Amino acid sequence: MVARCPACGARAPGAEVCRRCGCGLQGLLQIQAAAWQAERQAVRGLLQGDEALAREEAARAMVLDKQGMGSVLAGFVAWRSASAVTRCGG
Ligand SMILES: [Zn+2]
Repeated sequence: MVARCPACGARAPGAEVCRRCGCGLQGLLQIQAAAWQAERQAVRGLLQGDEALAREEAARAMVLDKQGMGSVLAGFVAWRSASAVTRCGG
């Protein structure tokens, strides 16, 4: 969901076209959706212990949505792989 129009800053909750300036937000909505999908994939990677997937998807989410969870997830993956010096076979 695009919270605000990037052109004029008007609130545009879920709108495909900004009500104030008419700026098309559909592309942004698609990017947002892709970012959320990447975030979900990153979480899935973490849950499944697939750090390569988690790192890749978190990085993708971070590029797609700089204010989203991508940077948090990427930080978590980095912290996790740095702290996972010993593994317990699980
Ligand atoms: Zn606007």
